[in-house]
Amino acid sequence: MTVWRMVDPRNPAFAHVTCTGAWSQGQGLCRTCTGSTQRRIPPAIVEWEGLSGNVGDWTWSLCGACVLLSVDVHRSLARRFSGYKVGPVKIIANKQGVARDRGCTTPEEGGMVAQVEHRFYEMWLTKWVHLVPEISTATMAWKCPECGRERWEVTGVEICESRFDRRKGTLVPAKRKRLPGHGLFVHRGDLDRADFFGVSEFPGWYLCTDRARDFMRSMKYTNIAFLEYGALV
Ligand SMILES: [Zn+2]
Repeated sequence: MTVWRMVDPRNPAFAHVTCTGAWSQGQGLCRTCTGSTQRRIPPAIVEWEGLSGNVGDWTWSLCGACVLLSVDVHRSLARRFSGYKVGPVKIIANKQGVARDRGCTTPEEGGMVAQVEHRFYEMWLTKWVHLVPEISTATMAWKCPECGRERWEVTGVEICESRFDRRKGTLVPAKRKRLPGHGLFVHRGDLDRADFFGVSEFPGWYLCTDRARDFMRSMKYTNIAFLEYGALV
């Protein structure tokens, strides 16, 4: 059984959002690593980037702070799979001053033009597990001695992205399959039958099993891609 990471395919035909909140109250920045002590909390407060592009079944924030799925996609997934819950989404006016909103009005709320978006939810993973450290090709690269924040790195996972080539002066696609025996390994039993999950070592990643990935591919959901990141053991 493969572990798949759900990612933004970076297709310019689909609209992206910038996520500006919401954030929990924090104790300011860590004095040692300058990391924020705030955490993302519902709702997702987003603005549309630019003025063009279709809205996909999945919508990605440019900074990676949230992932949105359509109400219809959620209905189909929730009937079959566990491991995540959904939270509300609020759209605020973008830099062009419009809440680009594809047919909705924009009531004033708390001094900010905002509206609850009824066609999307934010995905929140609820099943969190740890890697199996002995066989995963992941290492802790750094740990803040003051706040305990960790940064992990993994080698040998599938890559599909564009990199800027200075010599050519253009974006060039970089693709590589997962190397045999590399990546994130997770105990199947830890998942409690969940098909969506996160690993604590890489808290920004949305992971899923073959079952969930095969279903999503069969439904031909738009604006989502899957990279092979490891295996269940
Ligand atoms: Zn720190």
